[in-house]
This record gives sequence, structure tokens and C-alpha cells, in this order.
Amino acid sequence: MLDADFFRRWMAATAASVDREADRLTALDSAIGDADHGSNMQRGFTAVMAALEKETPGTPGAVLTLAGRLLISTVGGASGPLYGTLLRRTGKALGDAAEVSEEQLADALRAGVDGVMALGKATPGDKTMIDALVPAVDALGDGFAAARSAAEEGAVATTPLQARKGRASYLGERSIGHQDPGATSSALLIAALGAAAGGEARGE
Ligand code: ADP
Ligand code: MG
Repeated sequence: MLDADFFRRWMAATAASVDREADRLTALDSAIGDADHGSNMQRGFTAVMAALEKETPGTPGAVLTLAGRLLISTVGGASGPLYGTLLRRTGKALGDAAEVSEEQLADALRAGVDGVMALGKATPGDKTMIDALVPAVDALGDGFAAARSAAEEGAVATTPLQARKGRASYLGERSIGHQDPGATSSALLIAALGAAAGGEARGE
């Protein structure tokens, strides 16, 4: 079962990998956007970590709804409300249980991804974070490692696509040939699940 500490570790592992990969996220966004995705994500997850230390929410749902709220209020750009909605919807779907199963997390995350699609109107193939998140949620039933692989493959698979949503869509065909920054950061978020579960410590 996954408790509030697991969800805190998930957010901490995401914050750490966003810090590590910020320059790469910004470089990807400079190719097809406005070169702020790394700093947007860093600012958001720094605020999430500060809030989690101050408030120490006691349930999985409360950890994620707080994180989502902070992302909405601190991240500029399209990605803030989208990631905020993802975590808030996922948190709401988890309710106020003290512990949740991996299966409950998979169902809740699917509700979160549905919320992102409802807000941003993107569907798979539009070259957005959805292209990493949907395959990740589909694979989550097979475990965190499978979800990570699916998210990373989904992010890489955005490269040949033409963007149909967000700032990159203004480029039309010139968006082809570049990996989507938001799909790349979504793969970091999903990979952090395994880190929170101790996968990295076990060398997985
Ligand atoms: P901005 O585009 O406002 O500068 P960011 O650079 O932080 O915001 O985030 C860009 C990322 O947001 C894109 O790479 C894409 O994955 C994601 N994105 C943009 N618009 C949408 C949308 N409508 N639906 C889903 N994801 C989107
Ligand atoms: Mg940007």
C-alpha cells in the first residue's frame, strides 16, 4: 500500500529530476516554444516542496491536491494549470484514504489525465504531455517500471509529430523533428514513481 510518505517521496523525486533536467527541458522548449519549460517546472516543484515541508498533509490525496494547487499558482504558462489539474484531480480521486493501492493510484491517475485532456483539449498524437501520460497510465497496471518505459517511449515518439496544441502548434510543420518538452517532463514525473517506491535504491 502507498501512504502519504510515498506521495511526498514521489513529489521530491520529481523535484530532483526536474532540477537535474531543467536545462534539457528548456532546450527542448527553445526549439518549438519559448524556452521556459525547465524554469517553469523548477519554480513549480520548488514551491511544491516548500509547501509540503510546511504543511505536511497526512493523506495521499491531500499531498497531491496541495501539490496541484501550488503548481497552478506558481507555474506560468500552459503547463502550470495542466500539471496542476493532473495532480489535483488525481488527489481528489484518491479521496481521504490514509493508504491506497497501486491499482487505486492507476485509476486516480487516469481521472487526472482525463482532467488534463478536458482542460487542454489535446488527444494522443497532438504532440503534448498527453502522449507520455496516456501510455503511462495504460501501462501502470503492469507496475511502475512499465509505466516509466511507456512514458519515455511516448515522449520520444512525439519527435516526428506535428504539434496541434499549445505554443508549438504555431510553428506548423516546423514543429516536426523535435521532442515535446511537456511530454519529456511528464516522463520524469512518471519515472519518479519508481524512485519513490525505492526502485532506484534497488538498482532497477
Ligand atoms: P508555455 O507553452 O505556455 O510556454 P510550457 O513551456 O511550460 O508552457 O509548457 C509547454 C508544454 O505544455 C508543451 O510541451 C506541451 O506538452 C504542454 N501543452 C501545451 N498545451 C497543451 C494542451 N492544450 N494540452 C496538453 N498539453 C499541452
Ligand atoms: Mg514554454
